[in-house]
Formats: sequence, structure tokens, C-alpha cells
Amino acid sequence: MALTDILKDAVELGKAMGVTLRHLRERPVTVEYPRDSVPLYPRFRGRHELRRYENGMERCIGCMLCEAACPTGAIYVEADENDPHNPLSPGERHAKVYEVNLLRCIFCGDCEEACPTEAIVLGHEFALADYERRDFILTKEELLNPTEPNVIIRPE
Ligand code: SF4
Ligand code: SF4
Repeated sequence: MALTDILKDAVELGKAMGVTLRHLRERPVTVEYPRDSVPLYPRFRGRHELRRYENGMERCIGCMLCEAACPTGAIYVEADENDPHNPLSPGERHAKVYEVNLLRCIFCGDCEEACPTEAIVLGHEFALADYERRDFILTKEELLNPTEPNVIIRPE
């Protein structure tokens, strides 16, 4: 190898080391996930949740508008009449069955836009990996916020 080639390589190596040394002092842009996590935007759309009112009643009235609005057919709702003595929701009906198929969902948010009672919302949970296909179909029990504490994840 000629001396000029060696000098050229040494200059290039020096430039590369210069870039490395310059970036050594900068803060890393990556995080040690899952130990650390990056802050999510308030309007981030993750796993769905079915919300309740402050008194514990279910917001969903089984109107099926979310099912109709979903562009991928990811939502399945079966409505039932409320028992007047023990209603589950303030309306005449409630959702007897409510399912979201996460394998179809594209997280567009159309379901929450369509919902007249703000019952279905897309929360901030994004770690949705699983092993079995059937585990990607979320049932009403899995989607419904607990009675206590009442979880409100979208500001009014
Ligand atoms: S986020 Fe979009 S694709 Fe997913 S269930 Fe709602 S409407 Fe359907
Ligand atoms: S989540 Fe909203 S749009 Fe869907 S069935 Fe319930 S009340 Fe209707």
C-alpha cells in the first residue's frame, strides 16, 4: 500500500473518531425499555377501554354506533335490555357482549369519535404482544374499567 493511501486512511479514521468523540458528550436519544419508557402524547391511541360514570354505571348503552363506524370490522356488540330494578347503564339498554379484535384494529379512533356517551376510548397501553390468536380478542370484562377507582382516561 502506498504511503499516500495510508495517510488518506489515517485522515478518514481521524474524522470518524472525531464524530464519535463529539457524540460521546450528547445525551442518548434511546431509552432502556422496558425499565424506562418515553412519555406518550396525550392523544396517543393504544388499547381500548370501556369507561364508567362516576357512580359506577357503564357508559355504554349498546347502541352499536362504534361497530358501524369501525372501518375494519374489529368491534362486535350485542345489546340487551336493562333490568329496571338493577340497570347497568343509564339508558334502556347495555352491551351484553362487547368485543374488540386487536388483530383487525388499526387504532384509527373512529369508534371513540362515533360513541355518543364517550364509553369506548383508546388508552395508553401499547404493549399488546401475546402468544395465542384468541387472546387478541378483548372481551367486555377485559375492556371495562374497574368500578373503584373509577378510571377516566380522556379529559372531559
Ligand atoms: S380504533 Fe378504528 S379500527 Fe380499531 S376498533 Fe376503533 S374504529 Fe375499529
Ligand atoms: S361503546 Fe359507545 S358507540 Fe359503542 S355501543 Fe357502547 S355506547 Fe354505543
